[in-house]
Amino acid sequence: MNARSTLTFEETAAKYPKFPKLIMLKADIHRRGVYYTPNALSTVDETRHQLGGTHLFGTRDGKLTRRPEAFILRDGTSVLSTPTPLENNPYIIDLINDKLILTDESKGLEEVFYWDKPNFYDKKTSSGTLMQNVVGARPQRLYLIPNRYCHFWNEDMGCKFCDIVNNLKQQKNEIEMQTRIKPKDVSETIKEALKEKGRFSAICLTSGSDFHGKIPFDKEIDYYIEILSAIGENFTAKKFPSQLICSAVTKKQLKRLYDETGISSLTMDIEVLNENIFNIVCPGKAKWVGYKEWKKRLIDAVEIFGENRVNTGIVSGVELAQPFGFRSEDEALEAVLKEADELASYGVSTVNMVWVPRPNTYLAGQKNASLEYYVRLSSSLQEIRKKYSLTIDFDDYRRCGNHPDSDLARAF
Ligand code: SF4
Repeated sequence: MNARSTLTFEETAAKYPKFPKLIMLKADIHRRGVYYTPNALSTVDETRHQLGGTHLFGTRDGKLTRRPEAFILRDGTSVLSTPTPLENNPYIIDLINDKLILTDESKGLEEVFYWDKPNFYDKKTSSGTLMQNVVGARPQRLYLIPNRYCHFWNEDMGCKFCDIVNNLKQQKNEIEMQTRIKPKDVSETIKEALKEKGRFSAICLTSGSDFHGKIPFDKEIDYYIEILSAIGENFTAKKFPSQLICSAVTKKQLKRLYDETGISSLTMDIEVLNENIFNIVCPGKAKWVGYKEWKKRLIDAVEIFGENRVNTGIVSGVELAQPFGFRSEDEALEAVLKEADELASYGVSTVNMVWVPRPNTYLAGQKNASLEYYVRLSSSLQEIRKKYSLTIDFDDYRRCGNHPDSDLARAF
């Protein structure tokens, strides 16, 4: 095999017939990006559709214009979209015979449907804050970003694939986004969101890292406890279906989080499953936690949160970035899957997000992996879960929709 597979979509689909074709298409859309034609954008109805612009990370074309945040394929698969310049060869969404059609090389592939926004989006909290700037929505989950700033950037130690602070600056200039949200606004927005019966089944929180505090990350944990307590005001049960994506904190800090809030599952993103590449790609994480310690803390978390409640995310494809990454996709897959298997044997699941090389990052201009790589990686991660009888319902296609491997949990 070549260092990187060169198979086309159809060739990949023919080679892996058991891999659901629409999930493969979604992975390829994430890989190549998407471009909305002016005609497609003319059908956006701001009173009805959910528009982007409040994301934690930026777009591939570097613009914050309000465009559809995502769309749905005919089988219900949701696809988060990253608007991408035409010269990068993205998929194109066009208006053909009054229908929104995903096209490639002028060939119509699938009809797609923009997401409907939830009812609370245009309402305001008692402090006058627009609720969509406090809580966002994925198809079935509510999504909060309590802190949009990552303190690793203070020391120029942000992850090399990440544009969080550059994106925040742009958002502050262009849409007056707040860096931190207020607990009272959170409580009121969640209350309003829950009025839409049956729409949401979980709540997810994620932020930039904050290593400040007596013990590193105490400040991050204190703030999460504050926000989770505000969310908890809307529930009578001690625990509610939820996921926190945070820095890899100590067992003692995790215990506080678990005991003092309603959080029920935990994600601590290691980003890359290889120590040498992690040290280069995630210098802040390497300095403040370290690779081996990050893995140990993931395993510790299973003791506190229980089985099937802990996972870690990887930015798949970044392990092939040059000059420090693996030279071939075979070599990368072997290394990554070995470590994912080891983590799973301790009850920690690994989910992958397709790496999007964004313009405001250190790795701008690089290429992510081939579609075949994502197909092999995603099916293998799901196979590993099966091998260790791990479920991933808190981070699957219904809740998140940003992981091609956990999308497969609905199929096999
Ligand atoms: S920890 Fe890394 S990926 Fe997360 S926000 Fe900070 S720089 Fe970005």
